Amino acid sequence: MIDENEIARLVKSVLSQMDAQNAGTPKTGGAIPKNARVAVLTKPEHFDIKEYPIPEVGDDDILVRVEGCGVCGTDAHEFKRDPFGLIPVALGHEGTGEIVKMGKNVKTDSAGKPLKVGDKVVTCMIFKDNPDITMFDLNKQNVGGADVYGLLPDDDIHLNGWFSDYIFVRGGSTIFNVSDLDLDSRILIEPCAVLIHAVERAKTTGILRFNSRVAVQGCGPIGLICIAVLRTMGIENITAIDGNAQRLEFAKKMGADKTVNFTEFKGIEALAEGVKDSFGGHLADFAFQCTGSPLAHSNIYKFIRNGGGLCELGFFINGGDATINPHFDLCSKEITLVGSWVYTLRDYATTFDFLKRANAIGLPIKELITHKFPLDKMNEALEVNLSQKGLKIAYVAE
Ligand SMILES: [Zn+2]
Repeated sequence: MIDENEIARLVKSVLSQMDAQNAGTPKTGGAIPKNARVAVLTKPEHFDIKEYPIPEVGDDDILVRVEGCGVCGTDAHEFKRDPFGLIPVALGHEGTGEIVKMGKNVKTDSAGKPLKVGDKVVTCMIFKDNPDITMFDLNKQNVGGADVYGLLPDDDIHLNGWFSDYIFVRGGSTIFNVSDLDLDSRILIEPCAVLIHAVERAKTTGILRFNSRVAVQGCGPIGLICIAVLRTMGIENITAIDGNAQRLEFAKKMGADKTVNFTEFKGIEALAEGVKDSFGGHLADFAFQCTGSPLAHSNIYKFIRNGGGLCELGFFINGGDATINPHFDLCSKEITLVGSWVYTLRDYATTFDFLKRANAIGLPIKELITHKFPLDKMNEALEVNLSQKGLKIAYVAE
């Protein structure tokens, strides 16, 4: 038997524990430290872990404890030779984390959803005052040219990239509350938004439909996500094209109906026949070009039927010139061609729904993350990325 005094003592102790848990601003992870650690690219192919004081959070600012961030091809290029001339730079733009502190003016995210301490967030672009880039107007320009955390010049704040344990989100940035997505899904939001946008571009041709035959060339993360996006739209007739048997296997798990390994064909005519066979004797109605290879761009026209469409989205960097024959490839076939580049803000909102749908129908989206590294192993993370051994490499906070 427990006497009354004992019960009172127990209740008091439980209550005091709850108080201790609720004390302070951060809901989880304990108190905010004085300093934050940042993986700073101090010279090509080398990150140093630097410690910077966490600045005072102003009325419009948000302090986020980083939980993870994907490594992008852009990070790999910057890591290798600093083509953007940003060194010393805090990289990482595919990040997500938890709000630990925010200014009094911050009430909602960029889509109007309420924001509070403890919410999980991603950032998109830093707009400053460019009225040409708005959230819900599809006719406005894409976000190319806007600034993004993870590719900013160094400044007095230093907490500018997601390869760090805290990031300092300033007023004028876009931020989204994604508390209803798990960590791995949140790490994949940015690359998925690229494909949501590409498919939106493809739909403007009027050719991509529910029952279209679709060829997806290139089965890196971008091509694989492309297949998943098409699959969540209900498109089933998808042929994946790549030279890597393992990646083609993965393409099937992502929803490709057939695969074509180009290493098994001699010459473009034979390869085009292979693609045709995969569609039961038909060429593709629509094709997505997801490699950075100029030859792949030249080839893909041969996979598309007369009157078909093509979305080119593989060239995030200048990969050189591609040769096509305007007579055979474009005019006589009447191909409708669209290019695709990054995303609009609205695509971000669509991406959150896409991830939920993909998870719900059992597409192994999260298996795209093949390697995870802590902050002090960022050099290794980038080396694995450059070696192309995995698919998506990610920093995940310990
Ligand atoms: Zn990226």
